[in-house]
Amino acid sequence: MYNLVIFGPPGAGKGTQSDKIIEKYQLKHISTGDMFRAHIANKTDLGKEVQSIMDNGVLVPDEITIRMLESEMSQHTDIKGFILDGFPRTVAQAAALDKFLESKGQKVNLVLELVVSQAEIEQRIAERSKVSGRADDSAEKLIKRIDEYFTKTVHVLPYYQAQGKVSKINGIGEIEVIFGDIAKAIDGSL
Ligand code: ADP
Repeated sequence: MYNLVIFGPPGAGKGTQSDKIIEKYQLKHISTGDMFRAHIANKTDLGKEVQSIMDNGVLVPDEITIRMLESEMSQHTDIKGFILDGFPRTVAQAAALDKFLESKGQKVNLVLELVVSQAEIEQRIAERSKVSGRADDSAEKLIKRIDEYFTKTVHVLPYYQAQGKVSKINGIGEIEVIFGDIAKAIDGSL
């Protein structure tokens, strides 16, 4: 199994690049944001629990997120590996993931850090909010989500840097050029 974490601020292009990675490497995509949105759309108990949290752009508590992620990962055994998008977002989540994978004789193989400036992110999300219809894409929610990234989520990077697993990718420019850099990093870690 090959497990990849794609990492970067909101609007960094994680979704776009994930689609291309899945196509080339046939990894199973898990986006915790997509999973939460599906729960909300289906009005599940979990969806009801997280709706207001997500609408406000703050992180869902670790315990809920980790439980959901592990249950999803456990359902896919006969696959080449996972690409995790939007998880882990805290050091506690990263540690829980390591423990979970270790119990299955696996590990995180590579962490791709998509590097994009804050100015570029704000511009991209302002564009996306016009078309996505996502409740959390409005200006003030966006500021909150970026703030959550720079206060909580960035600490996940040193955690993985200490393990020598982070590959920095310039996230500004042509989608295909960025993907070329990503493919090189993945191929070098296979
Ligand atoms: P982004 O555009 O920021 O990448 P996502 O779709 O990944 O957005 O996540 C949207 C929201 O879902 C987050 O703002 C947060 O409320 C919740 N969420 C997603 N993943 C996690 C996580 N790993 N831990 C806590 N909350 C999460």
